Amino acid sequence: MSANKIQWANRPKIWSVSRRTLMNRCPRAWVLRYGFSKRRSGFNKHLRNISDWSAPWRLMQRALRGVIIERFETLLKNSVWIEKDLASKIRHRIIGAMLRQNSVVDVIESRTGKRSNLRDIMQIDRLDRLVEIACHRYHSVMKCKPIVDIVQGKISEWNIFSRLEKTKMDNIDVHLSPDIVWKSGSTWHLLRFSVQGSVTMRDENRLEHMAMVVWGKMMNGLPENSERYIVENLSWSRGKWNRWAERANQTLVDDAMKMIYRDMGAMIDLHERLGPSCDLSQIPLASSKRICNGCGHRDTCPGGEDLVRASLEQSALEMAKASQLRNKVC
Ligand code: SF4
Repeated sequence: MSANKIQWANRPKIWSVSRRTLMNRCPRAWVLRYGFSKRRSGFNKHLRNISDWSAPWRLMQRALRGVIIERFETLLKNSVWIEKDLASKIRHRIIGAMLRQNSVVDVIESRTGKRSNLRDIMQIDRLDRLVEIACHRYHSVMKCKPIVDIVQGKISEWNIFSRLEKTKMDNIDVHLSPDIVWKSGSTWHLLRFSVQGSVTMRDENRLEHMAMVVWGKMMNGLPENSERYIVENLSWSRGKWNRWAERANQTLVDDAMKMIYRDMGAMIDLHERLGPSCDLSQIPLASSKRICNGCGHRDTCPGGEDLVRASLEQSALEMAKASQLRNKVC
């Protein structure tokens, strides 16, 4: 990838759970997604589109999330929800996303001059099964608390929010908002859905959720006291939705903010390793082959071809560079 064709972005200034996840899963994919300038050159636009490419399984998850939010929007607007249209809504969302992605695969093929591996993953014959899975998860979430209580009107004070909403923290834009907020007594509940998660809550994920309290405290009409919030997550794992909830406190919220600043430091460090010459050879690859399988860069990234070999070659290159540097100093 030649440096004169791509534009280096300004230092990272945005934090979100998805950016954090991507950076931890594959620093190189993070750099390709966020390390280059958003605007201007057509090549940068292609780079972002390739980074946005998602496997059908991921598109199914997005479609599911989309219809759950749509269901809440109809409740808020008091409009009619036709349950029997559910499967076709999900199908249209997945097909629409697949069609939009076709042009991305065309660009990759015109650059590499060969058939993209992504075409094998984008098989339409699995569509019925994906729609069936999404419908099952949808029906199942509608029976879970607090969703069932909201739909049946037992919870009356509630609202939905967009994850894209930005909150300013010092000089950083952070995406901290929950999906649903509701009130019970004097307590405010902040909940996020994870359409694919794990049964147990890891410490770092717990802090990611605690960061929603920072958002709450900055919202007009919501309390400034951390202890008045319960932070929740509803996540699909091992065939069912698992609800996790924990009352917030100031220490946990402070820890969440420290985690965000630590992440921003790691993002800036990664970005500086790329440098104005856009040297991707210095950027670590994915932590597992499974991550490469769902990545839009797998046709052009050494990790996509053979992750183990590419990681070994990268370590050897780093060692050679370090010894060159040592020799110069001596
Ligand atoms: S193909 Fe693998 S190593 Fe390369 S950017 Fe994608 S996830 Fe990272």
